[in-house]
Amino acid sequence: MTSKAVMAELGWKGARQTRLEKAVTSSLGDDEFLRMTEVLRFPPQFFTTAPGSRVDAADLLFRAPRSTTSTEKEYLAQFAAALGDFLDSLDSRWPLPPVKLPIFDNGTPVTYAAGTVRERMGISPDAPISYLTYETERCGVPVITRLRRSRSTGALSWDPVDDDTGLSEKHLGYSTRVGEYGDRPLVVVRASGSWERTRWTVAHEIGHLVLHAGGGEVTEDQELEASRFASELLAPAACIAGEVPKVPSLMNLVPLKLKWGISIGALIRHLSASELIDVQRYEMLRRQLYTRVNPDTGHTWGKTEPGWDAREAERPRLLARWVERCYGANSAAMLASHQLIWPQDVLEDFLAGQRAAPVRSASPSMATSEGSKGGTVIAFEQFRQRRRA
Ligand SMILES: [Zn+2]
Repeated sequence: MTSKAVMAELGWKGARQTRLEKAVTSSLGDDEFLRMTEVLRFPPQFFTTAPGSRVDAADLLFRAPRSTTSTEKEYLAQFAAALGDFLDSLDSRWPLPPVKLPIFDNGTPVTYAAGTVRERMGISPDAPISYLTYETERCGVPVITRLRRSRSTGALSWDPVDDDTGLSEKHLGYSTRVGEYGDRPLVVVRASGSWERTRWTVAHEIGHLVLHAGGGEVTEDQELEASRFASELLAPAACIAGEVPKVPSLMNLVPLKLKWGISIGALIRHLSASELIDVQRYEMLRRQLYTRVNPDTGHTWGKTEPGWDAREAERPRLLARWVERCYGANSAAMLASHQLIWPQDVLEDFLAGQRAAPVRSASPSMATSEGSKGGTVIAFEQFRQRRRA
């Protein structure tokens, strides 16, 4: 809502709203207060609770496309701030995983930074990261998914990513630090069906968090640096060097892509930047990727690469898990009875796109006890048939 609309609804005139917004605390009459909570559709408790996180549009680590309006940036900042307060309230009930991500000085080499982050994640230097979103959250960095359409905002302005250009500075996610003391890193990613893009965006945002913690507008160079970090985190050049085919082609790079979980687009840039392929080979592969058409999808290979359907896109789980732990709830609707300070549609945005609980019947003892009732046996048979199909 614009200020004008709010003032009109509440019958406020002149500088009254500005005065209310600027004051540290204000008193309103009961009727006026109630009316305000109705107009703004937030619970009364929201207005009587001091905010903890302060996030400014300038604190967001991302390079916004030129078309991003200041209102949109402000929205992204306030969304992060609200998430920060939500995380703080969860943390006070059940401590969140401690933050294990380091912060590096300007100019730290990307290979060193990525190697250290792998170490903090407890992943060996020569092993692929099987589920990056989980490892990230285990390091104390909650990952939030934004859906294209939400009840609180309607359809978001969401420029289609022009994959065929191969440009990487489009806004697929952003990161920042939240919490009363600004020490809780947070990654927000757009929901995408592409598993390659989802993983890569998370890796790229970790790059910003560890390399560009100083904040301020993200520069073109920092954008490139975060991207180089992402590739190095997913597929350390020193480890993959021995696995690169002698004459790399789009097709013979697929096993490397699938093993390390990195798109061919990012992989060929990475191989070129790490001097594992020469410039001519890189240009040739790049041209093929963005001009040849994948017959299964009708898009170029750049948009739907070979192996595009080999995995499901990663989804976060930490927030849903903590809501379960703290409130025994597994949906925003189930939080209603807890009188939180946010309306249900905003809580739905917080919890959007979280992964469901892992299926427990995977454990042999469970399978046996459930199998005797017959249920799991059928489910497993269906699963096998799907696999065969
Ligand atoms: Zn970026």
